[in-house]
Amino acid sequence: MGNTGNVRIGSPGAAALAGLALLYAGPAATWLPAVRRLTPRLAGVGAAGHVALTFDDGPDPRSTPRFLDELERLGCRATFFVLGEMLDRHPGLGRRIAGDGHEIAVHGWRHDNALLARPGRMAAELARAADLVAAVTGTAPRWYRPPYGVLSAETLAAARLRRLRPVLWTAWGRDWTPAASPDSVVAALAPGLRGGATLLLHDTDHTSAPGCWRSALGALPRLVAACRAAGLRVGPLRDHGLH
Ligand SMILES: [Zn+2]
Repeated sequence: MGNTGNVRIGSPGAAALAGLALLYAGPAATWLPAVRRLTPRLAGVGAAGHVALTFDDGPDPRSTPRFLDELERLGCRATFFVLGEMLDRHPGLGRRIAGDGHEIAVHGWRHDNALLARPGRMAAELARAADLVAAVTGTAPRWYRPPYGVLSAETLAAARLRRLRPVLWTAWGRDWTPAASPDSVVAALAPGLRGGATLLLHDTDHTSAPGCWRSALGALPRLVAACRAAGLRVGPLRDHGLH
């Protein structure tokens, strides 16, 4: 099996847990997979020997530090798609994320659906969030991932204006569901765990079921170990070979 092959992970109870996960409409949208299949570039398909690890919706002082500690223990860097309203409340935590060597990218200001927001608001908030990331970290962000994976003409234009590349994901952990566990997160990601993958997890329950971040945190060691066992590097989008 080469670097582009599937990674094998034990996944007890995968089918039953996946069924439960489908019942909960969380921060990712059901219409998105059709879009992702059509556009591997938008999905963030990267270099064959690399897996991008990404976290959405933080930073959250209740949970993000736990992820930073675990990533440090694993010797792993990641990309954090932050919400402006969260970073605005917790700029020190944003500085820690960047100081620990991770990448900070833009998820928006609030967790709104671009198709439901009044005209002009999403563009203004995207710009405001990008400015805040630059002010907090000293580095202009490079990536934009809209809430729910919903891109609109307005947000695409706003992202282009700020030189932000839209990146969604190739595989998600369904970690936002109330029934999620470390096992279910590993099982949800296993079919998509291959070279070039961009993995979506959440470092907070800010927009989802209370405490569900623990399932993503608990899955991390096995996910990283499985990738490394298959000869794949795990890291942030900046190392993912996207052009
Ligand atoms: Zn989100």
